[in-house]
Amino acid sequence: MKTTSSVEIVDARKSLLQWLHPFVLVLLVFSLTLVLLVTPMEHGIRRAYTLLIIGLIAMTLLAYVLNLKNRYNISAFLTVAMSVIGTWSSLLISYSLQVNDLFPLVYVSITVILAGLFLPLRFAMLLALLQVVGCIALVMFYPVASAFNWPSCLVFIIALSVLSIASNYIRKNQMMQLQNYAIRDHLTGLFNRRYFEETLENKVLRAEHNTLSLALILLDIDGFKHYNDQYGHDAGDVVLKAVADILFNTVSLKDIVCRYGGDEFIIIVPYTKIQNVQDLCQKFRSELKKMELIYQTTNLGVVTISQGVALFPQHGTAMQTLVNHADEALYKAKEEGRDRVVFSK
Ligand code: GH3
Ligand code: MG
Repeated sequence: MKTTSSVEIVDARKSLLQWLHPFVLVLLVFSLTLVLLVTPMEHGIRRAYTLLIIGLIAMTLLAYVLNLKNRYNISAFLTVAMSVIGTWSSLLISYSLQVNDLFPLVYVSITVILAGLFLPLRFAMLLALLQVVGCIALVMFYPVASAFNWPSCLVFIIALSVLSIASNYIRKNQMMQLQNYAIRDHLTGLFNRRYFEETLENKVLRAEHNTLSLALILLDIDGFKHYNDQYGHDAGDVVLKAVADILFNTVSLKDIVCRYGGDEFIIIVPYTKIQNVQDLCQKFRSELKKMELIYQTTNLGVVTISQGVALFPQHGTAMQTLVNHADEALYKAKEEGRDRVVFSK
């Protein structure tokens, strides 16, 4: 939690899947109509394809409903599984009936594109690899499949798989970077206030649900304006970055450190005891006092902080109430002379 964002980029893929299912359904119904109209009654292929397509229609409907019910992951896996079953069953039906048709093999690449779009990277890569092995096995076991230019077809499938997986990987990476910019404070690299608000809401809900406690530490640098006024704005920035680093390096992995604004920081300490919060606040103070802060050649001296602490559920269960309690406690810490920790009453 210290370094990564837990916000998922599911929404765009979810709506794409929602759009894709009706499109696939139309294609499947069209294929079913063709099979029933064009293939002769007594032909074995007619029965096999009819059963297969009806099964695929049922899977598509199920995947559609699951996606609507916010079960994106299961829906995505079901959609890719459906494309794999559809493709490979068609291949096996065709080649076992000695139908020399290149096309079912080409559809293998569609399954890889779908996996690249909707599944985590490692699953898409694994699926691509398994399918290439499957294609080679097919050519070896079904002589009719080796009648066409299969090496060229295989190269096509591999090239398409690699390109589609690579392009999806690059796109996902760019989206993650953009998302990271949106939730980070550019000066300190800590999470920003927007991320804090979203996360506190989730953490409070989770703590409430599991009857756990949670602490909020609001922290402000004492006399910060003095660094700006005396040494310039850049020196102030150096102080902010140094304090941010100390906070980040002092908390444990589950804690969330954010820049609240100006020289204020806020820390969410989930699932904790009062004693641990007290220890953490004192550790911030002692670590800061050990810090030697040099700006250009000037020693900026010791940086002190004031901290206000609010606890969930003792001081409130609503997000804003907790923040207000922490804010009042911080105000009191300033009033009482700074460089101290005050717990909300
Ligand atoms: P107190 O002990 O009461 O907190 O006094 P203070 O001097 O720290 O007062 P205050 O917290 O109100 O000062 C905040 C100042 O921080 C005001 C603003 O000019 C400055 N500031 C806000 N953002 C930045 C920033 O990104 N960089 C720098 N260098 N200064 C900033
Ligand atoms: Mg201040």
